[in-house]
Amino acid sequence: MKTVTSEEMNQQFSYAEQVKHLACAGGKTPKALVITYGCQQNENDSERIRGMLAQMGYDFTEEKEEADLILYNTCAVREGAEQRVLGNVGALVHEKRRRPNLLIGICGCMMQQEHMAKTIKQKYRHVSFVFGTHTLHKFPQILWRALSEEQTVISVEQSDGVICEEVPVRREEGPKAWVSIMYGCNNFCTYCIVPYVRGRERSRQPEKVLVEIRELVKTGVTEITLLGQNVNAYGKDLPEDIDFADLLYQINQIEGLKRIRFMTSHPKDMSQKLIDTMAVCDKVMPQLHLPFQAGSDRILEKMNRRYTQEQYLDLVRRVREKMPDIALTTDIIVGFPNETKEDFEETIKVLKAVRFDSVFSFIYSKRQGTPAAVMEDAISDSEKHENFDRLLEVQNQISREINDACFGKTFELLVEGESKTDENMLTGRTPGGKIVNFPKEEGIKTGDYVNVTVTKTNTWSLLGEICRD
Ligand code: SF4
Repeated sequence: MKTVTSEEMNQQFSYAEQVKHLACAGGKTPKALVITYGCQQNENDSERIRGMLAQMGYDFTEEKEEADLILYNTCAVREGAEQRVLGNVGALVHEKRRRPNLLIGICGCMMQQEHMAKTIKQKYRHVSFVFGTHTLHKFPQILWRALSEEQTVISVEQSDGVICEEVPVRREEGPKAWVSIMYGCNNFCTYCIVPYVRGRERSRQPEKVLVEIRELVKTGVTEITLLGQNVNAYGKDLPEDIDFADLLYQINQIEGLKRIRFMTSHPKDMSQKLIDTMAVCDKVMPQLHLPFQAGSDRILEKMNRRYTQEQYLDLVRRVREKMPDIALTTDIIVGFPNETKEDFEETIKVLKAVRFDSVFSFIYSKRQGTPAAVMEDAISDSEKHENFDRLLEVQNQISREINDACFGKTFELLVEGESKTDENMLTGRTPGGKIVNFPKEEGIKTGDYVNVTVTKTNTWSLLGEICRD
């Protein structure tokens, strides 16, 4: 695994200075708009992109018309998101004609695919620069070239991935933060593009993770979410004898930190040691995202998930044995090639057996270059949609019943800010990760921990009142 050296980063810092000189000529403060698609890992990457932009003298805006630089950080997991990016970038051609100095960039997983970078170069000539996931730390150099050259700058390297510790990060202020503990994936589930665009599993040094979290706590962060495509594989590539459970235990000791969450866990790598560690670490929240993807063993095998329905259900049983109140969430793919009605019924069976708090479900999306993309598929789109609707119906009922059972209960919430739907309300999350909205009160602010009693329940959220007892 390649670690980006301090010398390489110093070179980038000197490019950053040169960009600043060019972009801020005449005392101007240029503005950047960074638009992020996809998962938390991408959000976390965008924080690093913003960190580098700030270093290069940029300020930030949410308005396209105000921006001197518009950058799309893209996702390759589903075709729909890719089409949206292409549509949005295509629509910017008029803005570019109106303002020829506008810089338009695209980066992230979608651009790491060779055919996509080619498409942009050939058909989207108003795009100034493109970079993939493995060259994110070279953004200053890429931007410097984009400011100095006429043609589209393409920086996409095929590699197993790098680790870079020195990229500046710019996070939104607040009590919560994401911390990546590892990158990439070795699992090659047959439907998934991630291992091709994010490289092989590589873990950060535990000391680097611990230092980052301690620094975050000093700035007022009290809740962190540890990120990795498969956090359960943490440490396998490190020389020291450490696994994810050990890391979790060490993070749990950090003074001032109150809540730890993590995602995502691959069921095949979830050890009993990790379950036991979660149960004894008081700061690890009772929440687990455990994707099962499909209930049928035949489909699980075709997906290369390397567990059976029985093994998955046994894992859930062992998790609940240690943590009876844990909130479980999952990912499900409906309509994997040749998933029959009988196969799909197995998925419904698992839903009913586990009773997840919530489910992230998607209709299978063919990804060029993955083994599943060339699998025979005789199932019609209408049958897939029918199954998808049925899954939502079953799960909505379960989520509703689980939320209804929260009525009258009191939870400790971390106040995250104003509710998105009502300016008179604040919003926060329970230890299990459920959103609760409650009326604003004098003296209660973002970052506080308050006890709230649930007074009304919905399928997706809860309403409550501050409890003074
Ligand atoms: S574990 Fe499977 S689904 Fe998850 S990122 Fe890796 S290949 Fe994709």
